[in-house]
Amino acid sequence: MAEQKQKRMTRQKKLIYEILCSTKSHPTADWIYEQARKQIPDISLGTVYRNLQVMREEGRILELSYGKNQSRFDGNPKPHYHFVCEKCGRVLDFDPDVPLVSEDILAAAPGMVKYHRLECYGICHDCLQ
Ligand code: ZN
Ligand code: MN
Repeated sequence: MAEQKQKRMTRQKKLIYEILCSTKSHPTADWIYEQARKQIPDISLGTVYRNLQVMREEGRILELSYGKNQSRFDGNPKPHYHFVCEKCGRVLDFDPDVPLVSEDILAAAPGMVKYHRLECYGICHDCLQ
């Protein structure tokens, strides 16, 4: 019985991770849930949230929170930046060759920096056309 449950949990977590990694759109938990239901119809939104939190704590994924708006998730945990289009609302990857935040700036922080997050806001190339 316990083994069955364990198998199910593992399957759910794997599916959630695969869905997240299959897109570059930085989806919300709701979107991931809608996709996951196509494969596991009785999966719950709570299960999706819980697994996302676990994977975030494991350092496998990133959570991008935007105040009162729903968090978005990113299957790429490596340091990179995001460009948020104020017109279409998309969150695009932005990965310059040069780090945007230097070690000197991080060293000047009033504490030990564990991670940092940088976002640029503007109008994306598609919306500019
Ligand atoms: Zn746009
Ligand atoms: Mn990203």
